Amino acid sequence: MIALGIESTAHTFGVGIVSKKNVLVNLRDSYTTEKGGIIPTEAAEHHKKIAMDLVREAIEIFEKESKGKKIDLVVYSRGPGIGPCLHVGKNTAREVGKNLGVPVIGINHCVAHLSVGSLVTPVKDPVLLYASGANTQIIAYEGKKYRVFGETLDQGIGNFIDSFARHMGLGFPGGPKIEVLAKKGRKYIELPYSVKGMDISLSGMLTNLKNKFDSKEFSEKDLAYSLQETAFAMLVEVAERAMAHCGKKELLIGGGVGCNSRLQEMCAIMCKERGAKFYAPPKGLLVDNGAMIAYQGILEHCAGRKESKVEVRPYERTDDILVDWK
Ligand code: AMP
Ligand code: MG
Repeated sequence: MIALGIESTAHTFGVGIVSKKNVLVNLRDSYTTEKGGIIPTEAAEHHKKIAMDLVREAIEIFEKESKGKKIDLVVYSRGPGIGPCLHVGKNTAREVGKNLGVPVIGINHCVAHLSVGSLVTPVKDPVLLYASGANTQIIAYEGKKYRVFGETLDQGIGNFIDSFARHMGLGFPGGPKIEVLAKKGRKYIELPYSVKGMDISLSGMLTNLKNKFDSKEFSEKDLAYSLQETAFAMLVEVAERAMAHCGKKELLIGGGVGCNSRLQEMCAIMCKERGAKFYAPPKGLLVDNGAMIAYQGILEHCAGRKESKVEVRPYERTDDILVDWK
């Protein structure tokens, strides 16, 4: 069984081809800016421009490397995400499915971030720290559903970091630039720390950071360093609380902010201290990507899911999905 997956929920357009056991191809092309944030229609335009070329390139690589094998299924992210971007992915999937003469199914993007962990790591039953641009959730499997035990009450951790980076004039995406700056920071500046049970809130810290930056009393490096130390400590605290609550002994990270080496280090320390295991997929599978979409499609298809209405669901939540493939 081989599937081609298409990702287009936000700034990244991705095409991946995977089998049940391996990632065969994983290409991606992202919309970026020098100064401002994501403009939905511009991101969708970017995706439309490159979509079919990226699909062609992925199929060429696949055909060269796995002679004679065929693609059996086309999968796309139906949501959650930015409406205009989702439509490009859905329309591309429909066209590719027609060209290849194979079924097309839409799947939930957040669930795909979770599932891909078991394709590339030995993880079995983890708590997932899903830290991406728009989404920040603590998720675990219980009774046929991925339950959201905690989440951000205002904005996603990636959007929060990107907003501050934009305020500093760093452009989008800001996460990797903040990480570089933070490594040079030495002095910890106290920032508002907001954890409520298993939920977090970031907007107070964002305002505080912007004010501190505007006051010119603090160095950019120290602000970036303190942002990471404070916000990531909040994420690790809620992840640990969820692990204790669910009695789970594994933590899996997902989402683009999961690429951050300091966040990974903090997760690893917490897990070591409580005798648990920490797993991080490689970066190409942490950020939004087509391979995880393809893999989720294989899981659902093998559990009996047939071709359904080709549609988008911009607001679909992780805990709306019946997990019948495990
Ligand atoms: P995703 O929505 O999962 O593709 O993740 C995109 C988000 O990840 C953006 O907000 C990026 O700024 C953020 N990101 C990517 N790399 C890093 C990094 N090394 N450190 C922090 N954030 C990052
Ligand atoms: Mg994502």
